[in-house]
Amino acid sequence: MGSSRSPSVRAGDGRGAAPRRLEDPVRFVPGVGPTRAAVLGRLGIANVNDLLTHFPRTWYDRRSLTPVGRLAVGQTTSFTGEVLTIARVGGRRRGAARVVAAVGDDTGVVHLVWFNQAWMMRVLGAGRRVVATGTVTEFRGQRQVVNPEFELIDDERAGELLDAGRIVPVYPATRGVSQRYLRRIVRAALDGWGECVEENLPRSLVEAGLPPRRAALEAVHYPPDEAAREAALDRFRLEELFYVQLALGLIRRRRRHGHRREPIRAPRRLEEEFVRSLGFELTGAQRRVIGEIHADLASEAGMNRLLQGDVGAGKTVVAGVAMLAAVEAGMQAAMMAPTEILASQHHATLARRFADLGVELALLTGSMSAADKKAVHARLASGELRAVVGTHALIQEGVSFRRLGLVVIDEQHRFGVRQRAALVRDGHAPHMLVMTATPIPRTLALVAYADLDLSVLDEMPAVRRPVRTRLVPPQRREAMYAYIRERAMEGEQAYLLFPVIEDSDAMDVESAEAAWRRLVRGALRDVPVGLLHGRLAAADKDRVMRAFAAGDLRVLVATTVIEVGVHVPAATIMAIHHAERFGLSQLHQLRGRVGRGGRDGYCFLLPGDDASTESLERLRLLVEQSDGFRIAEEDLRLRGPGEFLGVRQSGVPGFRLANPLRDGELVERAGREARRLIDADPDLATPDGRRCRRYLRALVTDDVALREIL
Ligand code: ADP
Ligand code: MG
Repeated sequence: MGSSRSPSVRAGDGRGAAPRRLEDPVRFVPGVGPTRAAVLGRLGIANVNDLLTHFPRTWYDRRSLTPVGRLAVGQTTSFTGEVLTIARVGGRRRGAARVVAAVGDDTGVVHLVWFNQAWMMRVLGAGRRVVATGTVTEFRGQRQVVNPEFELIDDERAGELLDAGRIVPVYPATRGVSQRYLRRIVRAALDGWGECVEENLPRSLVEAGLPPRRAALEAVHYPPDEAAREAALDRFRLEELFYVQLALGLIRRRRRHGHRREPIRAPRRLEEEFVRSLGFELTGAQRRVIGEIHADLASEAGMNRLLQGDVGAGKTVVAGVAMLAAVEAGMQAAMMAPTEILASQHHATLARRFADLGVELALLTGSMSAADKKAVHARLASGELRAVVGTHALIQEGVSFRRLGLVVIDEQHRFGVRQRAALVRDGHAPHMLVMTATPIPRTLALVAYADLDLSVLDEMPAVRRPVRTRLVPPQRREAMYAYIRERAMEGEQAYLLFPVIEDSDAMDVESAEAAWRRLVRGALRDVPVGLLHGRLAAADKDRVMRAFAAGDLRVLVATTVIEVGVHVPAATIMAIHHAERFGLSQLHQLRGRVGRGGRDGYCFLLPGDDASTESLERLRLLVEQSDGFRIAEEDLRLRGPGEFLGVRQSGVPGFRLANPLRDGELVERAGREARRLIDADPDLATPDGRRCRRYLRALVTDDVALREIL
């Protein structure tokens, strides 16, 4: 935080005249000694600011304490009283072992009950005062509360309660720090350092009614009522979203203005011929997106576009068209894929058609011989080669282009922002087309890809039919193999997918290798079955994949090396073993691999024996749902946006309170505000801008591109 320039506040606690700062170590807070400071460190709390932003995980409403005599059965409420007696009851034959504490005030007595928690005897003792929250039940005519949330409040004097008589915060805690303790030190930090808390959002937002930062901190920790708490929480959510969007907006602006791209205005003759050679009509969505791409390419700002389209939507053709535009304009075009198999496949799909147009398309992958690679490097550097498809090998040392006009990145989620940036080095500023089959909900795309324009291929080629998806219980497995065998005999092809390559003691999961051995000796004896996994040498992978694509292998036992992009038209069956171990979006993409040749596709999901009920529920969603967006949303809900997007690796701050899926309106608002600030004050030189820059600089610790801008 930029509090070093905040108004200094004199400390009156004998530390002399040093001004207080939010960066002060947490042990400066009254009540925090070295031991507790170490424990707080485990919660990620090193300084006062960390403590103030240690947000409650929930709150108990203890505004009105019910007199014990008036506790009604069925009521969930809070009350306070003194422990009158405490005893261990039961065990062995006399019912479950439990601790029962009789707690009373002037109006009556209630029993607090804990089962099998003998240690409660050590925590509570007669004469101690507690405040408790729970649901009142009745047992043998006596009112009781089982497993109450409770706290000791012995030393409280009336009117100073932090733990009762109000909405009380409940913090993420750990061994060695109690809720009461956290409440006290947060209170002390708010009292002692509150004045150091600066506003960090544009003034206009606060003027429009957003709670100021300091007041919002107070209201999150010690809310006067629910409405104030929600308003404060929204403020912090907006803050998180605003800073992510500001960061990405700055990167985007820099890209637009820093590296000017050379406009590409192609007469589109190559495109016309290429499309004619395809043997099918482009879908309306493909035509629309191609139009968007041409508009980008011809514009001053150039193209920086994310193309999103479900598996099989036909992204490769669109990429091919874009590459030809660059070539026709006299520039070079490169397409980067995440795996060798995919790169080879793109090459196989496009190279012949390009050659018919007189355009040579080279392949560059890590497994090529050094001499072959060198030859491609030289021809790219000289400009003789105009188009290339490859893997990471394209961004390695030694690769340079004479006039790189366009970069296409396939299956974006495998590459981070950093790799994208690597292509823009040395003053090269190619147009950028990023493609992904991961359906990203709009609000999330707005956050995570704020630096890219979005195109969606929302129409499937007519040949595509939805893949029928079935859950296959263990007792139906052999029947499924028999069915696969039958289909294979008829010339259809199947993928049998497994989560791991080799058996290991650590996991009770059948591996691809073990399954392959089992099947070639058993259920699929007389069927040609191949084995494909990531640990095979690239040449072997390639050989297996080619044999499968050619139909010589009818069944492919594989790990997820085939995950994205591979296209085998005769494949009709995708059987995924231990399906519960895969993400929903991943499963959806996998099933998109089959049923591409005009025949129906089937996806069989085989849960492991130990799959939980919840994971079966999750899989059932796939049976019912064929809309990739809906599936992605569910996936996100289950896994959280950070992991889904790999936001972490991008170096952009993540979220603690905001959830882009739930907080759609805040996402839009944050985006608007971030854009407004950047448009009005591109150098962040106004007071608002300077404040935001200071705050962002402290947030972003390891993103080189951003640090440069800031
Ligand atoms: P993805 O979007 O998953 O990358 P591909 O580009 O691999 O999809 O396309 C899947 C298959 O659909 C390919 O065989 C491709 O030739 C074919 N295809 C693409 N566009 C069309 C279309 N408009 N009509 C019919 N088939 C198409
Ligand atoms: Mg693809």
